[in-house]
Amino acid sequence: MKIPDQARAILVTANHILAAQGVFDGFGHVSLRAPDDPETFLISRSRAPQLIEPDDIMRLDFDGAPVGDKGMKPYLERYIHGRIYATRPDVGAIVHSHSASVIPFGVVADVPLRPIYHMAGFLNEAVPIFEISDCAGPNCDMLIRDNDLGTALAQELGDSTMILMRGHGSTVVGPDLKAAVFHAIYAEMNARLQLQAQALGTPRFLTSGEASAAAKTNAAQIDRAWELWALDVDSQS
Ligand SMILES: [Zn+2]
Repeated sequence: MKIPDQARAILVTANHILAAQGVFDGFGHVSLRAPDDPETFLISRSRAPQLIEPDDIMRLDFDGAPVGDKGMKPYLERYIHGRIYATRPDVGAIVHSHSASVIPFGVVADVPLRPIYHMAGFLNEAVPIFEISDCAGPNCDMLIRDNDLGTALAQELGDSTMILMRGHGSTVVGPDLKAAVFHAIYAEMNARLQLQAQALGTPRFLTSGEASAAAKTNAAQIDRAWELWALDVDSQS
């Protein structure tokens, strides 16, 4: 099945934005539930995000098997995406990254990641932490390299927007691609600001009511941020 050109283009832009905004480096991946077949998803072949081009986009099923395009090498951790799409019909896009400021919150469980400002109102509920050694034993390489680990991660994510992965990174979801990218960028930003605030003293976080009101406002304004981020990356290409 042919991959729609528009879907290829927006995924390329998403990859370039996430690289430009410091969420991705040579690693990290973003996927989109396929608009023409929602039981599959679209994602780049294994490549550094900033270099991704429309022809790199491939289609996978929810077990991580390529559909068509069988010559391209998929990401090792594609099981993150497939297993979340399989269990969360509300999810339209997923970002997995190793963005640096988030890492401390995955390894210090008694300091939860919480909304420090309005842009991260989506972090309202407790962010779960995935403990990979519970499934993969004491000597794994920390990566989600099969469907069993992907299923365990999806179960731990539950209904949340974000999951921290101890000693590895994080995964965020959204109802669509722009929302997932927004969540990934502001999760990284919130983590950085929370670390700075906690170095000063004890922060006063948003209340639950403030966080949910702010999240609702932000959800209606994502296009404004996307337009700017996209302009930045398009002008470099
Ligand atoms: Zn990873």
